[in-house]
Amino acid sequence: MIDRSRVNRVMKETEFIEISAGVGGFTQQDKMWLCRAGEVLRRGGLVAFPTETVYGLGGDALNPDSSRLIYEAKGRPSDNPLIVHIADFEALSAIVPEIPAEAVKLAEAFWPGPLTMILPKSDAVPYETTGGLETVAVRMPSHPVALALIRESGGYVAAPSANLSGKPSPTLAAYVAEDMGGRVDMIIDGGEVGIGLESTIVDLTVTPPRILRPGYITREMLQQVLGEVAVDATILRSQQDCGEAPKAPGMKYRHYAPAGDLTIVSGAPEAVTDYINRRADEDRASGEKVGVIGTEEMLARYRADVVKSVGHRGDEEAIAKRLYAILREFDDEEVTKIYSESFSTEGFGQAIMNRLLKAAGHHVVEI
Ligand code: AMP
Ligand code: MG
Repeated sequence: MIDRSRVNRVMKETEFIEISAGVGGFTQQDKMWLCRAGEVLRRGGLVAFPTETVYGLGGDALNPDSSRLIYEAKGRPSDNPLIVHIADFEALSAIVPEIPAEAVKLAEAFWPGPLTMILPKSDAVPYETTGGLETVAVRMPSHPVALALIRESGGYVAAPSANLSGKPSPTLAAYVAEDMGGRVDMIIDGGEVGIGLESTIVDLTVTPPRILRPGYITREMLQQVLGEVAVDATILRSQQDCGEAPKAPGMKYRHYAPAGDLTIVSGAPEAVTDYINRRADEDRASGEKVGVIGTEEMLARYRADVVKSVGHRGDEEAIAKRLYAILREFDDEEVTKIYSESFSTEGFGQAIMNRLLKAAGHHVVEI
């Protein structure tokens, strides 16, 4: 449910609908809404909708005007390309001139699901959608509302995350409403998303294929299908440290950053809690409002103004799902200094640390 008190003042222009897609499938009412949302997209409008990763801000991917509107609504730089969402594998042939064997294999293994592939684009895809690039990012999401909406819209939905540029991707419709109320034609509330972090992006235009953004589909999972898979050097290191710019244009921008100054503290658990408590005492003495992102196991040990549990250390899926909501909550609570525990960079942990490092501007204290 959207908490309407959180929605900004201009929301009158935005229509809010709820579609739950339970086990029995869509109700007649849901189908009517989806048909209407599809129409909005076909006539060039914008619809925010749930996917299994985060909420997306959709427009017709083959309509350059819709892509321009998306950039405008998000306040996103227009050299940052959009991901095109499809609902059927056959749809790929209209936007990609030649489908490589690797794409077929990955689609069989992971679509529909949280994997985006970078492929050469055909003339059908406007440069407005690809940020001027000759390649296009394509994903088939698994969320039933997303799939139904894409089919209703004509088959190609450009959809970046439905947040204002620079803010964390929304994991709840209420966050979409906060950022996009009054900026889009419709917001579809489908409840909390399943994964909570954006899709894995793999570039299939290079050899070996290269991960540009880590996500739920890990390097190990991709390697089982493709053999060797490289990882972009900027995923866990700052651009300055690597001496190169990230290959996914969007990864170079300041992302997910909370208003408060975030520091990641890495080391043995007791040393980490001691360090954070000491810093928190000093910061509070100088008038800061201090927040901590801690694991459930360590939570009771912290002294700070706001201590938030990101979940049990071993439960990466829960951590991923909670992370962006925590960053937004700290903003709401006007926290000025934030300290976070550090996480493993193995498997799905790599995606969690990649987002946390970006939120912290790569500010890590090793103790
Ligand atoms: P978002 O839409 O917010 O999930 O972000 C999409 C991400 O995909 C951004 O980091 C983009 O830079 C990246 N991306 C989209 N299209 C391409 C492409 N053709 N080549 C490389 N990265 C891309
Ligand atoms: Mg985004």
